[in-house]
Amino acid sequence: QLSHMGDLPAMAASRYGEQTAFVFQGLETSFGEVEAEANQVANMLVDHGVEPGERVGLFIPNTPRFPKSYFGTLKAGAIPVPLNLRMDPETLAFVIQDAGIDVLFGSPFLADEVQNLAAAAEVGTLFLPGVSEEGVVNYSHAIADHPETFDREAEGVDRDFEDVAVQPYTSGTTGKPKGVQLTHENLLSTIEAYDNGGLPLDPDDTFLLVLPLFHIYGLNALLGSGLYSGSTMVLVAQPEPEPMLNGIQDNDVTNFAGVPAMYTMMFREYRENPEKYDLSSLESVTCAAAPLADATRREIMDEWDVPMVEGWGMTETSPAGTVEPSRGVRKAAGCVGPVLDEVEIKLVDPGTRETKVSTDQLEPFPDDDLDFDDEASVTGEIAIRGPNVFEGYYNRPEKNEQVFDDEGYFYTKDIARVDEDGYFWIVDRADDMIIAGGENIYPAEVEDALYEHPDVEEAAVVGASHEVKGEAPVAYVVLSEGTEVSEEELREFALDYVPTYAHPRRVFFVDELPRSATQKVQRYKLEEETEDRLS
Ligand code: ATP
Ligand code: MG
Repeated sequence: QLSHMGDLPAMAASRYGEQTAFVFQGLETSFGEVEAEANQVANMLVDHGVEPGERVGLFIPNTPRFPKSYFGTLKAGAIPVPLNLRMDPETLAFVIQDAGIDVLFGSPFLADEVQNLAAAAEVGTLFLPGVSEEGVVNYSHAIADHPETFDREAEGVDRDFEDVAVQPYTSGTTGKPKGVQLTHENLLSTIEAYDNGGLPLDPDDTFLLVLPLFHIYGLNALLGSGLYSGSTMVLVAQPEPEPMLNGIQDNDVTNFAGVPAMYTMMFREYRENPEKYDLSSLESVTCAAAPLADATRREIMDEWDVPMVEGWGMTETSPAGTVEPSRGVRKAAGCVGPVLDEVEIKLVDPGTRETKVSTDQLEPFPDDDLDFDDEASVTGEIAIRGPNVFEGYYNRPEKNEQVFDDEGYFYTKDIARVDEDGYFWIVDRADDMIIAGGENIYPAEVEDALYEHPDVEEAAVVGASHEVKGEAPVAYVVLSEGTEVSEEELREFALDYVPTYAHPRRVFFVDELPRSATQKVQRYKLEEETEDRLS
């Protein structure tokens, strides 16, 4: 039983020592090597005067250096703050200042970027391999003299199960990123819940780790689970379709985890060159983080002949909330499975927070008074409580007041429905809802309709202001290369799937959709664009 994230690589090293933990550009790193270098990092940080609880930044792509610096920081009792490599410099500087980062780890792959960043944000020490100048300390030299073992207790940097372990930032999809304080318990309970059924992996498994390690999905659901289970992780730094497909083929990858945009991208490339790729080693694929179109899910399951498992979660839930069981019936896109072990959910009215249905009414059998045919009665905002739920946002006391209730439930602003099997279905974000003439429209349902059209590659729906109805949905669509569809044709097509009030008033064809670093559609940008286009 682990009680500290810093002990995870030690456990992995003792169980799987010589086995390959990471493959990166053909080079292999064993579990033992990760543990040894993480210990050097920890010794070096303590020597450098880094205090327990101090925030330490990581600006590192998916390379073996990331886990070594991450676990080294954890061992030293400091709090790693993984920084989003694709975030604009201004927002990054905000994050560094918000977290109060004075020590930062960089990587030779992004040396210029991280040096500029460190200078702009007035970071005290930057550890960077290969360089040594003012404010920049050569990483390899710095760790070289330090022992490959580290005794937390002897160093007096012990921290508790309930102490904050890491502080990742949210994706910034709806505004400025928020620092999420996750404890050792939060992270470890999620890793254990995955092992108990969410994502059971074993030392024979190899998975592609292309989801960014700076985001909770790659950081804890994948990296954490990988070390826990002794699986081999193939690190891919660029989420491009060819490296991802080749990575699966060349390494006999058994599991792939991605976000919807990655599947769309990979499938596009695969469909054009199906003979080029042999993906038969895949046993399952996992998807989360944004709405998945049913068309995408069906294509992948049919063409690759693998079950696709969907999950729902957030940075605030470490990240797991619900996951489809890896064995069993696959329902449809949007179904994210039952709640994880020891986690409780209630679906509430987003306005009044009155409970409509809670997980304790679902198990072992649903209460008789629940009426699943009346969808409105089993649909609401997800409020969640459990060992995976965060301690609160860093530096945001007012926000914390709003998002937690007296019973410890966290209000997510995500709308879901639950079915008679206790499986949750994600509807959309409450804040993205479009109200047209008094009717509620969720962008995801209209997008789903558009995705049914064979020539639609990507779709996003937002609300435009409308004189009579208040708001009306408009769509942005990326068509497959070389195809042509008219606006009228597509609007006509959508009518077969959605009610008239949800019918997109306009369809704009674009070359690409604005996406965040975690590949989520930045709806606020499309809303601004709509105002420009329609004014
Ligand atoms: P910010 O909070 O800064 O606006 P964000 O909410 O996108 O950004 P994350 O913590 O990365 O930051 O993402 C969590 C959100 O992702 C959830 O609240 C939910 O809206 C969305 N999400 C996660 N899984 C799914 C899923 N399976 N289907 C649809 N949406 C999902
Ligand atoms: Mg959020």
